[in-house]
Amino acid sequence: ESTVQRIAAGEVVERPASVVKELIENSLDAGASRIDVTVDRGGKNGIRVSDDGRGIPESELSRAVAEHATSKISGIDDLEAGVGSLGFRGEALSTIGAVSRLTIRSRPQGGTAGTELTVDGGTMGDPQPAGCPEGTTVEVEDLFFNTPARKKFLKRDSTEFDHINTVVSQYALANPEVAVSLTHNERELFATEGSGSLRSAVLAVYGREVAESMLEIEYSTEEDAPVDSISGLISHPETTRSTRAYLATFVNSRYVTAASLRGAVVDGYGGQLAPDRYPFAVLFVDVPPESVDVNVHPRKTEVRFDDEGGVTDLISEAVERTLVDG
Ligand code: ADP
Ligand code: MG
Repeated sequence: ESTVQRIAAGEVVERPASVVKELIENSLDAGASRIDVTVDRGGKNGIRVSDDGRGIPESELSRAVAEHATSKISGIDDLEAGVGSLGFRGEALSTIGAVSRLTIRSRPQGGTAGTELTVDGGTMGDPQPAGCPEGTTVEVEDLFFNTPARKKFLKRDSTEFDHINTVVSQYALANPEVAVSLTHNERELFATEGSGSLRSAVLAVYGREVAESMLEIEYSTEEDAPVDSISGLISHPETTRSTRAYLATFVNSRYVTAASLRGAVVDGYGGQLAPDRYPFAVLFVDVPPESVDVNVHPRKTEVRFDDEGGVTDLISEAVERTLVDG
C-alpha cells in the first residue's frame, strides 16, 4: 500500500486532530517544556504547533521531513515494540507534508540561527535561513488539498475542533509538567502552567468547578496482579456530564479510548451517578508491558489486555474505594 492509499483510507492522517496529535508527540519527544497549539476553523484553515524543545539542526531538517526519516530508532527492538504512534517510525512529517503545505521552522537549543523548510504536497523546498526562537514550529495549511475525497470527509469546523480539543486536552493532562496551550480562531481555550500538578492542569483544562470536585486515586496492587498501579483524579459523583468524553484513561502513559476501561470507571461509581451522566476522570493505569497489546488499531487508541476482567475489576475497585474514602 502506498502512503497516498493509506491516507485515502484514513488509516494514517484521518483529520486535523491526527496532525495535531503527531506534532504534539514530536514536541514531547523533543523534550519541550512548552507546547502551543494554534488552529483556525477546526484546523482546516491552519494548524500550528510551537515548542521550546531541542530543535533540529539545519543539516538534519530535510531528513526530518523525508520519508522514513527518524532520529528515534536505535535498533530492531524499538521497531518490534512498535514505538511510533503511527506504528511506523519516521512517517508523520513526511505523510503530513504529502497532503498539505507544511512549513517547519527550527532552531536548536544554543544555536545561533534558525532554518525553515517547506513541503508542498510532497515536494520539498530548499532549507532557508529564518529568524526564530529556540525550538520548533510546524505549520500545516491546506490539509488534504490534493486528496479531495479525504477533504470532503471532514466534518463541520466545530466538530473537527472538538476532536482537536480532545487530543490537546489529553496530552495536557497526561503531561502536567509541560505548559500546553490551545488557541482556536484567535481565542485561547486553555493554557496549563506546566507546574507538574495534575490538579492544576485539570483546573486549566476543565475549570474550577471540576478541579475542586476531583478526588485523588492512589491504588497499588499486590504482586502478580494484572495491574501494577492506578493513579490520577476522578470527580465527585455529582460533577458529571452527559458524555463519556471526559473519562480520560492512560495505559502505561498512552492515551486509550477503550470502552471497557471507561465502563470500569463508571461501574466503580455503583448507583451514585444520575441516569445517563458520566464523571470526569484522568486515570493512569500501569500494567506489566507484556500483558497488554496496544497494536489493536492503526491509530492505537485501543488496547487489549491478557486479563481484561482482572484489569477492569481492579479499576472499578480503586474507584469505589476512592469514593468511599471521599
Ligand atoms: P518520528 O517522530 O517517528 O521520528 P516524524 O516524522 O514524526 O517521525 O519526525 C521525524 C523526525 O523529525 C524526528 O525523528 C525528529 O528527529 C524530527 N522532529 C520532528 N518534530 C520535531 C520537533 N518538534 N522537535 C525536534 N525534532 C523534531
Ligand atoms: Mg513523530
